[in-house]
Order: sequence, then structure tokens, then C-alpha cells
Amino acid sequence: MSPIGIFGGTFDPIHYGHLRSAFEVLQALRLAEVRFVPSGDPPHRGNTFASAELRYRMVEAAVVGQAGFSVDNRELRRDGPSYTVDTLESYRKEHGATSLCLIIGMDAFLGLTSWHRWGEILNLAHIVIAYRPGWQLPDAGELGDLLAEAGTNRIEDLHAEPAGRVFDHAVTQLEIASTEIRNLIAAGRDPRFLMPDAVRDIIVESDCYT
Ligand code: ATP
Repeated sequence: MSPIGIFGGTFDPIHYGHLRSAFEVLQALRLAEVRFVPSGDPPHRGNTFASAELRYRMVEAAVVGQAGFSVDNRELRRDGPSYTVDTLESYRKEHGATSLCLIIGMDAFLGLTSWHRWGEILNLAHIVIAYRPGWQLPDAGELGDLLAEAGTNRIEDLHAEPAGRVFDHAVTQLEIASTEIRNLIAAGRDPRFLMPDAVRDIIVESDCYT
């Protein structure tokens, strides 16, 4: 069975940078699917701008009807901070020995050692770094060591083993950030073409960023 991709994030709001990266990883790595997992209470972020329910609705609107994409509300159903390691544990319980690929951006990967129980993540899933050209992978420190030990450039490794490898995949550089989108909306400008229209409709109707 092909690996399942798990793409977590605050998605405050989701935009084409997230969607295009996930799509390119889905295709290039021949994943069975990508599950978008909006965080309920992101531990690194303090308060989000839109509520968890609204961020979930925006992700749902972005992926509905898109082959290979789905949204998962398990972090909204859990109390307390949304730790990725807990999410991966629950996936592992559900999916037995199926390969799991946690998809993260390079900025997220560079902060990995500050994540709750980060050393357990590779026991549960592979890490796929969707990096934008121009970023540099670390070659020293804990992350450098991790890449030296677990790094692979063989997609077959991600299919053959359930967890444990780090793979980096260059994705099209779309310099879109949720922060910029929120600032733009707060300044009275229109986020059209940075995200699907269905997401923009929810933002307009809920007024969540003004
Ligand atoms: P903010 O601007 O609020 O920090 P963000 O989009 O960087 O928002 P998240 O929604 O938490 O933050 O991002 C989810 C994941 O998507 C992270 O792993 C992040 O690295 C990645 N990501 C964010 N923006 C892009 C982009 N333009 N292209 C590819 N990946 C992205």
C-alpha cells in the first residue's frame, strides 16, 4: 500500500503555497493521499486569528472534491496543545504498518528540535521536507546528524518502510504566507488568487481577519 501523507499546519488561512506543495509531494512521491490536519491549539503559535473551527472549514473548502486530498479534524477533537507526535501516534494505531509521511516546510523542519517528543517522530513516520529552492538543509548540529543518519533520496525507501527516513523534495516556490494574507486583508485589500475562491468566501463572510 502506498504511503499516506500527513500535512499539519495552522492554516490561518490555507493558501495556494500549502496546496501546491502538497500536490507536488503527492504526485512525486506517489502517495495514496494527503490528509490536511489543521491544528486545534498550535503549541508554538499562541492565539490563532481565526478559530479552529473556521480554519478547519477553510481547509475543508479548499480540498473538497480534490482527488487525493482530504481534511482531518482529529486535532480539533483532542483537548490540550496539538502535538504532532500525538497525531502520528493515533495514525499509527489506525494504519498498522502502512508507511506514513509527515510533510513539513523547511521553516518547520528547522524548528523540529523544539517540538514535543521530537525524537519519537521518526519512529512513527517518515519526514518529507517540502523545501523551496534557495533554502539550505542543515549540515551540522542535531538536524545535520539526523539527516546524515536517516536522510534518503530514494522514494522507494518511503514505500518500503513504515517510518524512519527523512526525504527532501524541492517544490515550486510560491512566496505566499498566511501572515501576509492576514495583513493584506486587515489593510482592506483582496486576497483573491492567493487561495481558492471558496476559502476567500469564508473569510469574507466571517470577517475573521479584519
Ligand atoms: P504563518 O504566516 O501564519 O506563519 P504559514 O503558512 O507559514 O503561516 P502554517 O499554516 O502552520 O504556517 O504552515 C503549514 C506548513 O506549510 C508548514 O510546514 C510550512 O512550512 C508550510 N508552508 C507555509 N507556507 C508555504 C509555502 N508558501 N509554500 C510551501 N510550504 C509552505
